[in-house]
Amino acid sequence: MKNIAILCSGGDVSGMNPALKHFVEYSIKMGLSPYFIFDGFEGLIDNKIKKASYDDVAGILTRGGTKIGSARSKRFMTKESRAVAKKNLDNSKIDMLVVLGGDGSFRGIHELHKEHGIKFCAIPSTIDNDISQNEYCLGVDTALNIIKSSIDAIRDTASSFSRAFVIETMGRDCGYLALISHLTSGSELCLIPEVEYDLNSYKNDFKKQIKNGRRYFIAVVSEGIKQETKEIAEWFENEVGVESKICVLGHIQRGGNPTVYDRLMAYKFVNHAVDALLGGINSSVVCYTKNGFIHKEIDEVTSQKYKIDQKLLNYIKKS
Ligand code: ATP
Repeated sequence: MKNIAILCSGGDVSGMNPALKHFVEYSIKMGLSPYFIFDGFEGLIDNKIKKASYDDVAGILTRGGTKIGSARSKRFMTKESRAVAKKNLDNSKIDMLVVLGGDGSFRGIHELHKEHGIKFCAIPSTIDNDISQNEYCLGVDTALNIIKSSIDAIRDTASSFSRAFVIETMGRDCGYLALISHLTSGSELCLIPEVEYDLNSYKNDFKKQIKNGRRYFIAVVSEGIKQETKEIAEWFENEVGVESKICVLGHIQRGGNPTVYDRLMAYKFVNHAVDALLGGINSSVVCYTKNGFIHKEIDEVTSQKYKIDQKLLNYIKKS
C-alpha cells in the first residue's frame, strides 16, 4: 500500500478541515494510506508525521481552521532543513504530498521536489484569492460571507447614527475580497490596490447625496491600498463632513463554519490532487479555471501576479 500525506502551510482558511476529511476518506478509497503532517513545514522538519484514520476526521467538517495546524517556517528556507524533511518522509515511506497553502508554500514544496524528488500537488488555499492562473482559492467564500454579515451588521448601526464606516478587508496586494464585498453588500465606496483612485473625485457627489437625504456611507477598503484606513476615515470627516468610524475586520475573516461552497470546493480540489499524484503528475498546482480544474506548473503560477477579472474591475472604475 502506498503512503500519501497532507499538510497545511501559511495562513489557515475555512475549508482546510473539510479538505482533510475528504483527503483521508478519498485516499483510503483509492487504496492509499493517508498521513497527516502537523504544523506545516515546521512539523515536517520536526517529524510530526502521523498515520490518519477516519476517527481523526470525524466531526471536523463544520470547523474553520485546520485540525493539523499550520505554520510559517523560516527553517524550511534552508537546504539543510529540507534534507531533514526528506529523511523524515523516507522514514514514513511517504513520497507523495498534498499541500494546502498560498504561493509561498508552493515555492517551498517545489524546492523539496527539485532537491529530493518528493511528488506533490498543491491546492490554492488563501483568503487573499491571489494565486495566478487560478480563479478560486479555498476559504474565499467563507471569508466573503463573514464580511457580508459584518457589513450587514455595521449598516444597521451606521444608518442609526448618520455615520460613515470605513471597513478594512484582508487581501494583502489583492483587492478581491473588498471588490466582491462592495458589489454584493452595496457600499458607496470601494478602494483596492488594482484601481487608481482620487478621493476628491467622490467629494462633491457624496456631499450632494447628504444634501438629498443620505444618512450614512459604507466604504470597503482593501488593506493593500496606498493609504491607511484611518486616512480614509479622516477624509470623510474633514472633506465630506460626516462623522466616521473604522472597522478593521482582521482575522475573523479567516475563521468560522466553512460555507457549502468551500466544503464542495475542498472535496473537488482534494479529488483532483490525489488523482493527479496517482496519475503520474508529479509537481503541480491544481487550479480552478473557467474551463474547470487544470494542473499547472509551479513556476507558471508563482512567477505571475494574480489579475482580477477586468469585467469585475470595470464595475468600480469611475465613469
Ligand atoms: P499565505 O497566502 O496565507 O501567506 P503562503 O503559503 O503564501 O500563504 P508564506 O508565509 O509565504 O505563506 O509561505 C509559507 C511557508 O512556505 C514559509 O514559511 C516557508 O516555510 C515556505 N517557503 C516560502 N517560500 C519558500 C522558498 N522560496 N523556499 C523554501 N520554502 C519557502
